[in-house]
Amino acid sequence: MKQFDVVIAGGAMAGMTLALAINKLSKQPLSIAVIEPFPVDDLAHPGFDSRSIALSYGSAAILRKFGLWEEIAKIATPIEHIHVSDRTHAGMTDIATQEVGLEALGYVVELADVGRIYYRQAQLDDNIELIQASVSQVTRHEKKVQIRLTNETVVEGKLLVAADGAISTCCQQLGHELTEHNFDQVAVIANVTTELAHKGQAFERFTESGPVALLPMSEGRMSLVWCLHPEHATEVMDYDDKQFLSELQTAFGWRLGKLKKVGQRASYPLLLRYRKENVSHRFAVVGNAAQTLHPIAGQGFNLGIRDVATLAESIAHSTHDVGCYQVLKRFKQSRSDDRDATIEMTSALVHLFSNDYLATRIGRNVGLFAMDNLPILKTPLLRRTLGLVSR
Ligand SMILES: Cc1cc2nc3c(=O)[nH]c(=O)nc-3n(C[C@H](O)[C@H](O)[C@H](O)COP(=O)(O)OP(=O)(O)OC[C@H]3O[C@@H](n4cnc5c(N)ncnc54)[C@H](O)[C@@H]3O)c2cc1C
Repeated sequence: MKQFDVVIAGGAMAGMTLALAINKLSKQPLSIAVIEPFPVDDLAHPGFDSRSIALSYGSAAILRKFGLWEEIAKIATPIEHIHVSDRTHAGMTDIATQEVGLEALGYVVELADVGRIYYRQAQLDDNIELIQASVSQVTRHEKKVQIRLTNETVVEGKLLVAADGAISTCCQQLGHELTEHNFDQVAVIANVTTELAHKGQAFERFTESGPVALLPMSEGRMSLVWCLHPEHATEVMDYDDKQFLSELQTAFGWRLGKLKKVGQRASYPLLLRYRKENVSHRFAVVGNAAQTLHPIAGQGFNLGIRDVATLAESIAHSTHDVGCYQVLKRFKQSRSDDRDATIEMTSALVHLFSNDYLATRIGRNVGLFAMDNLPILKTPLLRRTLGLVSR
C-alpha cells in the first residue's frame, strides 16, 4: 500500500493547481498523489475540455506565486477592456485597464492548454505521483485516510483533498451535504470568429433570455458563453451554423461586425451546488467540489483557486502533520467569508440579469450606470471580478 502526505482526488484545474502549489510553498518536500481517471489529452476529460475561462488579475497573481504563471502567460490572451450592456436598454458600463491601473483586467485561457502545461510540470516533480483511477471508497482512521481506487489498489494519506468536481464521490462517502439550486439555464459554449478584431475586449450582454459573454482569445477568435433556457438551448444546439450565427448576432448585436464562423458547440446545465462544510477529520474540499457557480461573472475557478491557495499555505505552514486539526481549522476559517460573498454576488447577478420584469430591468440599468460612475476600485463587484479579494 502506497503512503503519501496528501492525496488529492481529481486532477483538473483545482486538483492539479493544488498539487503543484503545495511543494512550491512547503519548506520540506511532501509526497502527493493525484487520482484522476482521465489522461490529460483525452477529449472526454471533464475538467480540461474545450472550455475557455477568464482568469482574474488576482488569480494570475496567485499562479505567479506558485511559479505557474510564466508558462500559462504564453497561452493566455489579456483582457484590456470589459464592456457590459443590456440588449434593449441604455444602461451599460465600460472598464479599461487604464482606469484601474492594472496591466490587464484578466486573462482568457483554454483549459485543454492549461491541462497540458500542468501535466508537464507535474511529471518533472519527483514528489507528485499521478495515478490514473477513480476514488471508490474512503475510510478514515485517527492518523490517516485509506482510499480505495477503481484499479483495486489502496493508497493512504495524512490528508485527503476532494477536488473531484460538483458531484464529488469523496464528499458523498464522507457525508458532506450538498445544497443545490437549479437556475433553469444551460450554457452553450463555442469559439466564434468575427469580422472586426477584438483588440482585447470582453463583452457581457444581458438579454431577455439570459447573458451572452464573448471573451477575447488567441488567433482573433472569441470564446462564447451563451446562457439560455434549457428548451431554447436544445434548439440552438441543433441549429446549423448559419442559423446559430444569425440568432447570436441578434442577441449580441454588431459591436464586432458580422459574426462569421462558429466552431464546435458544447453545453452545460447551470446549477449552484454548495457544500457548507469544507473540512472534516483529515479531509478538505476545494474548487467545484466545494461550490459550483453560474458562469455569469466568471467566478468559478477564480474562487476555487483561492480555496487552493489558502489550503496550500495552511499545509506549508504545518510543522509536522499536514492533516491535523489546526491546518484544517485555519483553512476553514479563512475561506468562509469569501465563499459566502462570491456565491451571493453570483446568484444575485443571475436573478437580476436573467429576466425581463420592468422593475429588475430598471434596477439593472441603474446598477450599470452607477457602476460606471463610482470610483472604479471602490465597487465591491469589480474588486471581486478582478479577484482583488483578501483571503
Ligand atoms: C460554460 C462555463 C464557463 C466558465 N467560465 C469561467 C470563467 O470565465 N472563469 C472562471 O473562473 N471559471 C469559469 N467556469 C468555472 C470553471 O470552469 C470551474 O470552476 C473549474 O474548471 C472547476 O475545476 P475543478 O478542478 O474544481 O473541477 P472539475 O473541472 O469538475 O474537475 C473534477 C475532476 O475530478 C475528476 N473526478 C471525478 N470523480 C472522481 C473520482 N471519484 N476520483 C478521482 N477523480 C474524480 C474528474 O474526472 C475531473 O477531472 C466556467 C464554467 C462553465 C461551465
